[in-house]
Amino acid sequence: MTAVHVPGTPVIEDGRLVSTSPATGAEAGRLPVATAEDVRRAVDRARAAGEWWAALGFDGRRERLLRWRGLLARRIEEIAELVHAEGGKPVADAVVEVVTAVEHVDWAARNARRVLGPRRVRSRLVLAEFSAHLEYQPYGVVGVIGPWNYPVFTPIGSAAYALAAGNAVVLKPSEYTPVVGQWLVDTFAEVVPEQPVFTAVHGLGDVGAALCRSGADKVAFTGSSATARKVMAACAESLTPVLLEAGGKDAMIVDADADLDAAAEACVWGALTNAGQTCIGIERVYAVEPVFDAFVGKVVERAARLTVGPDDADIGPITMPSQLDVIRRHIDDALSRGGRAVLGGADAVQPPYVRPTVLVDVPEDSAAVREETFGPTLTINRVRDADEAVDRANALSYGLGGSVFGRRRAVAIARRLRSGMASVNSALTFAGMSTLPFGGVGDSGFGRIHGEDGLREFSRAKAVTRRRARSLLPSTTFERTPADVARLVKAIKVMYGR
Ligand code: NAD
Repeated sequence: MTAVHVPGTPVIEDGRLVSTSPATGAEAGRLPVATAEDVRRAVDRARAAGEWWAALGFDGRRERLLRWRGLLARRIEEIAELVHAEGGKPVADAVVEVVTAVEHVDWAARNARRVLGPRRVRSRLVLAEFSAHLEYQPYGVVGVIGPWNYPVFTPIGSAAYALAAGNAVVLKPSEYTPVVGQWLVDTFAEVVPEQPVFTAVHGLGDVGAALCRSGADKVAFTGSSATARKVMAACAESLTPVLLEAGGKDAMIVDADADLDAAAEACVWGALTNAGQTCIGIERVYAVEPVFDAFVGKVVERAARLTVGPDDADIGPITMPSQLDVIRRHIDDALSRGGRAVLGGADAVQPPYVRPTVLVDVPEDSAAVREETFGPTLTINRVRDADEAVDRANALSYGLGGSVFGRRRAVAIARRLRSGMASVNSALTFAGMSTLPFGGVGDSGFGRIHGEDGLREFSRAKAVTRRRARSLLPSTTFERTPADVARLVKAIKVMYGR
């Protein structure tokens, strides 16, 4: 008997993971499901490959990573079409995603030596007879567990930085987008054919759990906060360090002196791009009273123009069919508690699509305000002033990104958001800025990908001191005399006793 396929829901048939389009049900591909033993073997193979990769040094790795960057850029239409075919994402959104990923590969490759390479650091007066040396060495094998919503950008956000730092990587892509994950490792193997430096294992959540217990030297997880807790618990068994990039409920604040047209444009894109299935997507807006009505009008006018459907539409299908129930529940809950739909509403969910929905005056304790919706919906609530907006934005346990529109106080407001990132007078732009770290606080996780912090995340600091002269004030020896100790006491009082 063959299994009944719900379009978009992965199934396992004869030991293979079958991936289908959520829009059409067309098969995107099928890949062998790994056993726990397969995962361990993949990590063992990666460990040997990682030694070869690390020995290439920064220049050797840079050259190869830049070759991969070139391939990704040249074949951008191919991978964007694949992202569309497998996850349903509009091709234009997929192109933007790949562009951002290419940018990160380039930056990580070019900057790894500067950030991680061996260098002398200054000595202090107390140990002036020693020189100090610092470098950042690779962990060995990094396990990367990815989600489906940005199947190129999220794995590359970890993998490119881990690879540039000298690690081998074993990727466990989401079961909703394994074909895209396999494409990434296959194209890497085209430019680095010598050793299996970047490979993939496929399957459901149990394969991710097996990767946590596989002996990988670090696990970089991107996905929901609920799974992040399981990943951390599994990694705790072997004290395997983890990086957790988890969910969010990002807020936008619109202050009284904001450019309302620009704010509405960024809000509609930030909330509805990729059908709202974006960890750093705008899900809640707090607009100050004097501009509230005008802002809502501009948002609705823009959002109402968006097309919904397959292929060239602005908003594609919901990738994970089970999410449709969550989105419906959030809309119903908001409306039943006194919120109003000024666009879309109760009948917006038309599987596999959801029409853009803008909800206003939604109680702050409703699911639509407190929980991650992951659909093309947003709430806009009025606030007295920016201070109240910050309080409300900071009221949740999530703290990933955020956005502020305004002039005079906008940067100060952005700094007060309890989040790892914020965009002023734009939305989501921090994600594409490869010089900046990306990551959250609270239930949104910890650790950082991207930028210098992202390179350091995938390496261990190695500190070396080297004697360069005899000690004038010997302290770290049993050969010291009482007079040496007395001189040391005197010196420390002179230096720090003021
Ligand atoms: P998910 O947590 O369901 O799955 C993520 C990955 O974890 C998948 O590969 C899955 O197979 C694997 N997994 C499941 N159970 C596991 C277990 N017990 N041990 C190890 N791995 C396991 O998340 P999702 O639905 O794929 O992705 C959507 C979520 O990801 C949203 O919450 C979104 O906000 C979040 N996300 C966060 C970021 C970020 O950078 N912070 C980026 C993109 C998505």
